[in-house]
Amino acid sequence: MTSGSKKRILTGIRPTGALHLGHYVGALENWVRLQDEYDCFFLIADYQALGDHLDDIEGIRRSVIDVGLDWLAVGLDPEMSTFVIQSHVPEHAELAMLLSMLTPLGMLERNPTLKAETDQLETRSLSVGFYTYPVSQVADILLPKAHLVPVGEDQLPHIEMTREIVRRFNNRYGELFPEPQSLVGRVARLPGTDGQAKMSKSIGNAIYLSDDEDTVNRKVRGMYTDPTRLRATDPGHLEGNPVFDYHDAFNSDKAEVEELKTRYRAGTVGDVEVKQRLAVALNNFLEPIREKRAYYEEHPDQVREALMEGTRHAKQVAEATMAEVRERMGITYF
Ligand code: ATP
Ligand code: MG
Repeated sequence: MTSGSKKRILTGIRPTGALHLGHYVGALENWVRLQDEYDCFFLIADYQALGDHLDDIEGIRRSVIDVGLDWLAVGLDPEMSTFVIQSHVPEHAELAMLLSMLTPLGMLERNPTLKAETDQLETRSLSVGFYTYPVSQVADILLPKAHLVPVGEDQLPHIEMTREIVRRFNNRYGELFPEPQSLVGRVARLPGTDGQAKMSKSIGNAIYLSDDEDTVNRKVRGMYTDPTRLRATDPGHLEGNPVFDYHDAFNSDKAEVEELKTRYRAGTVGDVEVKQRLAVALNNFLEPIREKRAYYEEHPDQVREALMEGTRHAKQVAEATMAEVRERMGITYF
């Protein structure tokens, strides 16, 4: 693990399932790339997952391991970066609670991502813990005093909120935290296989990094395409068509993609062929990730070690920050 003069990154994922193509282009790809340049903290946000998955603790437990496997499979390197299990560093909860005192309720009420997510939850019951998760995310970012937070587009309101809370804290108690910047991935928001705006583990419209070849072929065959197109000879639309969004994001043969687009618009290629070629491209992209994942599935000790070692390091960093926070806030009595 490196540290020293490098600037820090904190970013994370909820253990609510294995990781998918949206995570890759929206976030993970940047994380892998930035590991050299930054001192990175990658968080498995299991406290946060409890906000809407309290009844699925088995799923969370399984997903903690799945996320660890997926991280190692895509090339996050525990020798260079710090993997953290949130609940094993209870300072995350302490700082979240203290920051909640500095956060006006209106800030949460105005947050568009939170609004969209709570609207979806309303039929089930919405917990206080879920409602305040953006504040807990601020605490996650502040514990290692992160400068940069690489995330998908849906997270931008949360990073903006983080900056506001940092300004409040620093104004009141003196400069302690940097105002973190956000960095959105190559594809800001990858749509789902069903054509919905966001591929998401919770919606069931995802292609997972761990899906085998047959599963990928089946999911691609069933993908949503241009609904106005009834025959292969009808001119097709590329806009709002996730099959072409995925070609753009994952097919390394750019000439093939351009040719398919031209023929699709002209009505000289069927959806079946466009999808078959997409399945080939996706399987090519996923194959090296699958191979690495299979290695780590056979070496669970290495996964556990990566998670536990990183968490130990993160705990030390968090304890140091919390000592400063308590001091600044005057919560020291003897
Ligand atoms: P859940 O449905 O349980 O909220 P999720 O699929 O949204 O899961 P998160 O753990 O909430 O995944 O998100 C982890 C990171 O991946 C965030 O930075 C988020 O912005 C990014 N991300 C998730 N889905 C996509 C997507 N479809 N396109 C781009 N980025 C994404
Ligand atoms: Mg999410």
